Amino acid sequence: MDSAGNGFAKSLWVTTAEPAVDAPALTGGIDADVVVVGAGYTGLSSALHLAEMGQSVAVLEAREIAWGGSGRNGAHVNPGWKVLPSAIRAMYGKERGGRVVRSIDGSCDLVFDLIARHVIECAPRRAPYLRGAYGKSGIREVENWVREWGEAGAPVALKNAAETHELMGSTFFHGGMEDARGGSLQPLSYAYGLARAAMKAGARLYARSPASTVARDGTGWSVTTAGGAKVRAQYLLLATNGYTDGFWPGLRRQIVPVASLQSATAPLADDIRRAILPGGHHVSDTRNTMVYFRVDETGRFQIGGRGNPFDPCRQDGDTHHLRAEAVRIFPALKDANWEFDWGGLVAMTKSHTPNLVELGPNAYAGLGYCGRGVAMGTMMGKQMAELVMGEDVPLPREKMAPFAFHRFRNAGIAWHMISGRFLDRLDGWRSGPDSKGMWR
Ligand SMILES: Cc1cc2nc3c(=O)[nH]c(=O)nc-3n(C[C@H](O)[C@H](O)[C@H](O)COP(=O)(O)OP(=O)(O)OC[C@H]3O[C@@H](n4cnc5c(N)ncnc54)[C@H](O)[C@@H]3O)c2cc1C
Repeated sequence: MDSAGNGFAKSLWVTTAEPAVDAPALTGGIDADVVVVGAGYTGLSSALHLAEMGQSVAVLEAREIAWGGSGRNGAHVNPGWKVLPSAIRAMYGKERGGRVVRSIDGSCDLVFDLIARHVIECAPRRAPYLRGAYGKSGIREVENWVREWGEAGAPVALKNAAETHELMGSTFFHGGMEDARGGSLQPLSYAYGLARAAMKAGARLYARSPASTVARDGTGWSVTTAGGAKVRAQYLLLATNGYTDGFWPGLRRQIVPVASLQSATAPLADDIRRAILPGGHHVSDTRNTMVYFRVDETGRFQIGGRGNPFDPCRQDGDTHHLRAEAVRIFPALKDANWEFDWGGLVAMTKSHTPNLVELGPNAYAGLGYCGRGVAMGTMMGKQMAELVMGEDVPLPREKMAPFAFHRFRNAGIAWHMISGRFLDRLDGWRSGPDSKGMWR
């Protein structure tokens, strides 16, 4: 596998995954009903669902199967977008917004149902998602989440400081909330499992086959790879997320790619392991400079977060700040043996929501999960497949809407990260507990 400077081959996931999916490079010319570009969760889920609905599908992957975010992520299967149900209804209208909210609500179930149905070996764990609240604004954030998702019928619960400390095994956060829809898994093995299921259902997967140019071909599309091979298809689906390149003119400006870095320890000693997240929760927090962490089934502590503000797309960047943060939250990790470092690109959008973009006749892109694509990428892939089959899917189709000043994006990211750090500190200093043990 390619490893040069991209933080993939050094990952915990590559070391512990089920055997990699061996897909050939495409040569010559082939026909299909649908050509999918990108073999992560989005592309593989669309390929699997389409093949199961009787469509002939060809998937083109520039590198190896699941080489992108799907093979590198934090392993958290998280419900929900960054924006709340009320904002989603305000954006898309009551009826459409309600359908979007219901499909988000079902996205974690979709992942675990696929794992069960296709017997995917990926260490699935259905323990709740725990969100640590930091400072006043963090408490407000979890309160809003619990109120809104609670009203939508989701199994969510607010936790005061003492309850959070007990669930976490740390006194670092000021409160929190638990969302029982979540879970975790071995992300690369999950992607390999989707790929194998898609192939079994008849989809053709091609690795080392970067889609390079695209042209209209009658009523369909003709995609040519960098090696000169060709796929002709009626439908074109782009599933390239944080790794979107210049293949479709302008699409890379739909998103801002940002690196997320991770570090993992060797399996912890039993006493430390029992004290950290004793209920098997996976955690992220409410800060602008949030981190996400969990203990895996072998007892490794694994933490992720943003990289260097001045080199925000570097995927193999220094992770010392993440290790230091782990020790701040869990002092017992001070002598931990950190064994793995890796990273990858997440895709941020203007709306902070995933985008289903209509590129042209029978051509769509699904991308922009803002760091929450395990469940939502799988759901997006399913809905793109249903769209091809003529269904009115919940996610609204949007026109391409590129970021203005995209070329200055790294300056924007640096400003966001540095000012966010300052605001987080300010928020922590201003807080204190109320009579119910919630910090205000
Ligand atoms: C470090 C990290 C931690 C994360 N943690 C979490 C988490 O804990 N929970 C969560 O829900 N989400 C998380 N995410 C986000 C999640 O991993 C992604 O949203 C998700 O994997 C996106 O899947 P995808 O299939 O859309 O894209 P990817 O998996 O990124 O796949 C896109 C693929 O497209 C290929 N490609 C690009 N251009 C071309 C081309 N021209 N031709 C052919 N192929 C092309 C790329 O090589 C790549 O393999 C994390 C992401 C990262 C990087």
